Amino acid sequence: MKLKLAIQKSGRLHDDSIKLLKECGIDINNGVNQLKTAASNFPLEVFFLRDDDIPQYVEDGVADIGIVGENVVMEKNKQVQIVEKLGFGKCRLSVAVPKTMDYTGVADLDRLRIATSYPVIVEQFLKKNNITAEIHEISGSVEIAPGIGLADAICDLVSSGSTLFMNGLKEAEVILKSEAALIANKGLNEAQQQLLQKLLFRIQAVKKAKN
Ligand code: ATP
Ligand code: ZN
Repeated sequence: MKLKLAIQKSGRLHDDSIKLLKECGIDINNGVNQLKTAASNFPLEVFFLRDDDIPQYVEDGVADIGIVGENVVMEKNKQVQIVEKLGFGKCRLSVAVPKTMDYTGVADLDRLRIATSYPVIVEQFLKKNNITAEIHEISGSVEIAPGIGLADAICDLVSSGSTLFMNGLKEAEVILKSEAALIANKGLNEAQQQLLQKLLFRIQAVKKAKN
């Protein structure tokens, strides 16, 4: 029996996910242009997927566990267990407005058009703050939306803030702080749970050694 782990096929979390496995003493060959691979020295099979699909695969049990940003876990709203935060892929999901706007607080978002790839999280945030705004879901290059007249504000992932700055925007509200997390299917059997514990034990040791 092998534990099935889903990681990002390519993108910001790919390299650090592979690196974490290596640091845990698990040898796999790098999987760009490849759907899956098996570890040679641990009962682990690694699937390479788009990050957006990982929560669904883990909920369904196609993968037993996965590595994905907390932001994606929250947006997808799937029934998965967050097992451990992994300390990489750190970013925040923030509302940004034009630099020239005189922003004083969330109430200023009322009646605006907000472009985002995170409609579920933004909707929850607006509701919690009693704000009525129009959410425009777009899948990429969200930061250019205000400049082309598509929206008045955006909600997007930020790390340094330089992308916002280059597009004439400023960070107005942090909705969520996020990092990569290890998630697991909620119905793992005894043997799968034991393997997960073994992996988790190694991950925690790696994290400890870094502090
Ligand atoms: P995929 O092709 O797998 O769908 P993607 O384009 O959706 O990839 P990436 O841009 O590779 O995703 O980002 C993956 C994750 O990296 C994000 O969901 C987030 O958790 C994390 N991340 C960390 N810093 C940033 C940042 N500055 N911008 C975007 N994502 C970031
Ligand atoms: Zn994605």
